[in-house]
Amino acid sequence: MNRITYCTPTEPVDPNASYQAATHENPTNAANLSAGRKKRSIGEHTKYWKAGRTLTIAIARFDDDAYTAVKNAINHWSRHVNLKFEFMELSDNDELYEGDIRIDLSPYYNSLASSAIGTDALLTPSHKPTMFVGTNYTWSGYEALVMHEFGHALGLEHEHQHPDASIPWNKEKTYEWFQRHNSMPKALVDAQIFPRERNINLTYAPYDRHSVMHYAVPSECTLGDWHQPLNTQLSAGDIAFARRIYP
Ligand SMILES: [Zn+2]
Repeated sequence: MNRITYCTPTEPVDPNASYQAATHENPTNAANLSAGRKKRSIGEHTKYWKAGRTLTIAIARFDDDAYTAVKNAINHWSRHVNLKFEFMELSDNDELYEGDIRIDLSPYYNSLASSAIGTDALLTPSHKPTMFVGTNYTWSGYEALVMHEFGHALGLEHEHQHPDASIPWNKEKTYEWFQRHNSMPKALVDAQIFPRERNINLTYAPYDRHSVMHYAVPSECTLGDWHQPLNTQLSAGDIAFARRIYP
């Protein structure tokens, strides 16, 4: 059995720069802030690209099949968003990377992929990729993994961390499990697995356990028998949300 790949969306180094980049790209990213609010912290603004724009997506050519697998997975989002995807090869010259989203492929990322969230990619220095995925494209879950990472690149967050997520976690066992399978330290589990507090500045779609943005949850990590298999396609909720944020 293939083990599940988990991911770590990269947090912006500077929340203020994140806010500036997000609102410069798409002023509606600020709309959730209440008027007159002076203090901002991570997560208080959305990071969606400007609807209608072309998003250039550079993919490292690890080999032809991997390139095609990544491109096809990303294209599952394309008919649900008002964005034009333009694919290109990630240049070999790492001083001259092009692309709004720059995807590195390496076996090194087979157990832990990552992506910048939406417009935070604009803060990534241009000689660095914004997304990292593995190369085990013959694995049945690979397409779902790339769809998940690209969901982050579109500005989506983890669904299993929805404040209304009703997953009965067994915390101690969860720490143990992620340490054993993915060498994830406790702090990363806290940051990427367990639910987030409700942010009063954001509006939420209903919790959707079938979202591609939801991790597979093994029953070993929960109380009782609660578990969630890997979601392998965009859910109705994913599609509705994508249409709402990219009208
Ligand atoms: Zn993720």
